Amino acid sequence: MAGTPPAPLEAECRPRAALLEHQHRRLTMLLTALHGRNRFYTRKLDDAGVRIDTLRFPDDLHRLPLTTKQELAADQDASPPWGTAHTEPLDRYTRYHQTSSTTGRPLRWIDTNDSWQWVLDCWKAVYRAARVTGADRIFFPFGFGPFLGFWSAFDAGSQIGALCVPGGGMSSQTRLELLETVRPTVVCCTPTYALRLGEVARASGADLAAGSVRLVIVAGEPGGSIPATRALIERGWGARVIDHHGLTEVGPVSFECWDAPGALHINESEFIADVIDPVSGAPVPDGDTGELVITNLGRIASPVIRYRTRDIVRLRREPCRCGRTLASAEGGILSRADDMVCVRGVNIYPTAVEAVVRRFPEVVEYRSTVSTRDALHSLALEVELARDARDTHAVATRVAQALREAVGLTVPVRVAAPDTLPRFELKARRFVVDGGRKRETGDEP
Ligand SMILES: [Zn+2]
Repeated sequence: MAGTPPAPLEAECRPRAALLEHQHRRLTMLLTALHGRNRFYTRKLDDAGVRIDTLRFPDDLHRLPLTTKQELAADQDASPPWGTAHTEPLDRYTRYHQTSSTTGRPLRWIDTNDSWQWVLDCWKAVYRAARVTGADRIFFPFGFGPFLGFWSAFDAGSQIGALCVPGGGMSSQTRLELLETVRPTVVCCTPTYALRLGEVARASGADLAAGSVRLVIVAGEPGGSIPATRALIERGWGARVIDHHGLTEVGPVSFECWDAPGALHINESEFIADVIDPVSGAPVPDGDTGELVITNLGRIASPVIRYRTRDIVRLRREPCRCGRTLASAEGGILSRADDMVCVRGVNIYPTAVEAVVRRFPEVVEYRSTVSTRDALHSLALEVELARDARDTHAVATRVAQALREAVGLTVPVRVAAPDTLPRFELKARRFVVDGGRKRETGDEP
């Protein structure tokens, strides 16, 4: 990349008091725009007795009603297909996406040209933080379907002047050939797929680390902020990893800080973040873990107010060494509230298992199965090892030992035959409950 890296915007470095003032102004504008036009939120605000003109901020934020995915799904069921959470007449909407939920049916999400442009502007903040400029060439090895996925990253990339190369509808081998031909400097994909492409490259004798890619932006799963997973991707690609997190219903909320790896900045210029106890709904102070709740300030045509993301985070609001004053989610997305399982009295998150397993470079794929057949539940792990791995039994023993130390459980570890565990492109489903019901490890970017 030529020239100096893009600096943070002034709007990302405001003193907290000025940021709060800005958020208050934008929130008032949003609520005023919704009330009377957006049927879903007019009803919710009226039911909660919210008076927009006398709302104090941030003290009254908790008086705004929470929004859940179930509520939006029920609204779409009651008024199919789009529901009533729209601010503009339906003929203004130009983009359709849907969530990729494996539990329940997906939410349908539509945008106008204006609300889509706001989403793209939020992605530009991700690129700025990742030091991506118009001089870059960005490759998207991703099946472009109805998931919002990297559509927004693609459009935002071309708007900043980078050459954007779609990699949908092709095999991993064909993607590697395209990579060789167009020589991108940046790759955007899920952490799982970054590892998978590395595995396919190795099997065909190619060395990604010697290639053109200097940066891998990952999203869609928490892996980008799990130290062992990111180290594996960075080694395999010879490239820096930058993590990003967003939701279809919310937009591109956060980006990893270049100067403080392992923390995600919440783009508070465009989103209001508060954190609640996922069970009681009570506010949680900065520094404690809880569920991230997001209000997006600029997607006026299809907004969410105090949306429960189900993502567990720990927020800090001290200024960062990069100059930004935006809140930071320490350690990224720590887990998904819905993913926790209780095994023999111990609460286990899939991210905790991943953080251990990825410390073993010999492990190319794995699957954990929680059996709920007896009351105490049990957890078992299968690992698939690299073809050249030696003494596979010893590796399994070391993985079991590391799991015992990290999560406090004795977990049987079985070595699976090469190429027998499923591989994933979009979202990995490595946490299986009872061999039947699958669990997600995150929402799509
Ligand atoms: Zn920072």
